[in-house]
Amino acid sequence: MSTENNTMISGSELAAKLYHHLLMNTEQGKDAFHYLTERGFTTEMINTFSLGFAPNAWDTLAHFFDKRKVSLNIMEQIGLLAKRDFDGKFFDRFRDRVMFPIWNKDGKVIGFGGRVIGNDHPKYLNSPESKIFNKSKILYGFHIARSEMRKNNEAVLFEGYVDVITAWQAGVRNGVATLGTAITDEQAKLIRRNAESVIICYDSDNAGLKATYRAIEILEANNCNVKVANLPEGYDPDDYIQKYGSEKFRKEVINANQTTMAFKMNFLRKGKNLQNEAERIAYIENVLSEITSLTNAIERDHYLRQLSQEFSLSLNALKQELYRLYKQKK
Ligand code: ATP
Ligand code: MN
Ligand code: MN
Ligand code: MN
Repeated sequence: MSTENNTMISGSELAAKLYHHLLMNTEQGKDAFHYLTERGFTTEMINTFSLGFAPNAWDTLAHFFDKRKVSLNIMEQIGLLAKRDFDGKFFDRFRDRVMFPIWNKDGKVIGFGGRVIGNDHPKYLNSPESKIFNKSKILYGFHIARSEMRKNNEAVLFEGYVDVITAWQAGVRNGVATLGTAITDEQAKLIRRNAESVIICYDSDNAGLKATYRAIEILEANNCNVKVANLPEGYDPDDYIQKYGSEKFRKEVINANQTTMAFKMNFLRKGKNLQNEAERIAYIENVLSEITSLTNAIERDHYLRQLSQEFSLSLNALKQELYRLYKQKK
């Protein structure tokens, strides 16, 4: 690795240590620590995930790096510092935020997510893409989840950093998250190299459900055995755990996961009035079209029977239509 990359990583590691120290041991960090405590973060969670605090000042990191002779230019390239236009002076990019270090596969800090304390916007500020930080290649929490992923031959995929951390505390220790973007082939391959099964546990809102639909395609295309957690509408995993506790989360959300087909059927009928003939037929067509992509004949039979029963249709008619859709697909 180039010396520049080494400096980028060692600078990020130093920054993470400083932020963590400021959160845990200083007057400046008290409000942030209180915020985290109020949200149910324990010291164990804060330590395991090395959470920190970036003070509300322009020069905390700039001064710290300057004193330690760390190149401010290089720290600007990884987005920890920014440069003032009119005099070229460096200043801190993350201010007054709770800091979530983001690690590479080897557990080295390569970037940060910074969350506002409270409800300001933007809620999260992430490190920009750089030579060492490529959002599409890494998964948040991977180096912490890795051994459990391998042991269980299963991973749980979340949307947010906070969800990974809260689920970890709730005993789900094979959880990782994408970094605010849709899952990529590379991330799917990284999971698949360590586990065959993936339970998707995205936020149960409109955006999360749509993202789940896309993640299923990408993970299945990479030969993962995909399931979808059973999170009630309107919750994200962290909300759910705060409200119902760890045990219920493990039993009724993670372990009560559904097949991707069951998830798709629920998704496709959302907002539809199946009493209405045209909407009902469109729904049945959509489900049949999904059934054409099932490779397992037993599964196909199972869902065909389910449709046949629910809508009082003959299996024969459904099979004929399925056959027509197959031919159309070719
Ligand atoms: P919290 O519980 O603290 O509100 P969350 O994890 O529920 O956080 P979401 O709004 O569900 O936050 O977002 C999920 C993820 O999307 C975040 O962890 C972050 O990676 C990314 N994200 C959210 N908002 C932004 C933003 N404004 N810019 C970039 N990424 C974002
Ligand atoms: Mn969301
Ligand atoms: Mn969320
Ligand atoms: Mn949340």
